Amino acid sequence: MPSQEQKDNIIVVGAGLVGCLFALSLQKKGFQVTLYERYKDFRSIPSLGRSINLVLTGRGLRAVAQIGKDVLDEIVSMGSPVTGRVMHNTYTSERIFQRYGKDDTEFNISISRFELNKYLIKKAVDAGAKVQFNHNLSSADFSGEWAKLTFQTPQGQVVVDAGCPVVGADGGGSRIRYQMRDAGLTTFTEEKCIQGYAMSPKTCRSRSSAAAVLTPVAVFALI
Ligand SMILES: Cc1cc2nc3c(=O)[nH]c(=O)nc-3n(C[C@H](O)[C@H](O)[C@H](O)COP(=O)(O)OP(=O)(O)OC[C@H]3O[C@@H](n4cnc5c(N)ncnc54)[C@H](O)[C@@H]3O)c2cc1C
Repeated sequence: MPSQEQKDNIIVVGAGLVGCLFALSLQKKGFQVTLYERYKDFRSIPSLGRSINLVLTGRGLRAVAQIGKDVLDEIVSMGSPVTGRVMHNTYTSERIFQRYGKDDTEFNISISRFELNKYLIKKAVDAGAKVQFNHNLSSADFSGEWAKLTFQTPQGQVVVDAGCPVVGADGGGSRIRYQMRDAGLTTFTEEKCIQGYAMSPKTCRSRSSAAAVLTPVAVFALI
């Protein structure tokens, strides 16, 4: 672990759920993290419009628990338990309740993606992480010892000589991943699914259970 006087730097591209949680974890381990995020500082805005809730399952909660029980408890208290999902049968209009666990004692947590992201970024900053908002990574050069990152910002192009490890946490269409592929450092293939689902903006509450309401679009929904 690096000493407090001379902290090792790490750059994380993308201040989404993974980037913020990772930054928080690295700060707690004694690293100095700088996050680069393409959007403006969303901590001060009241909502992200139609952003839907996220269902936090055991896997997500385990990742949060690694940080500390206080963080786990705070995140759980921000959400509400969901014991299952309601599927709409597109042929019969029937609604089928599919339980997540064996009974009401087993549930996932439905939580606002936006509030969770805001919470995690705040925790990362409180732990000492720096965030450069409005920095949209356009390219990365991996030919030197450390990566050279080019960002588009409202003030123009900014080139950052990383001088430290860089972690790509820039989501599904990761620019870092495309740049690594183009540099011959990784290979992958992509195939877009035609399946999808529509989600009711309101949770459906019946008796004591709350459920996510899903309507499969096209063939079926795989969650
Ligand atoms: C409709 C939908 C519903 C989902 N529901 C669930 C669910 O119920 N439960 C669940 O566990 N998961 C769910 N997921 C999956 C979940 O959203 C992802 O697993 C999670 O968001 C991944 O986190 P991430 O930080 O890797 O990516 P993201 O959350 O996408 O964050 C990536 C961050 O990187 C930034 N970024 C992207 N490109 C650049 C760039 N070039 N330069 C700088 N910054 C950049 C973005 O602005 C963003 O802040 C759902 C996904 C979708 C699309």
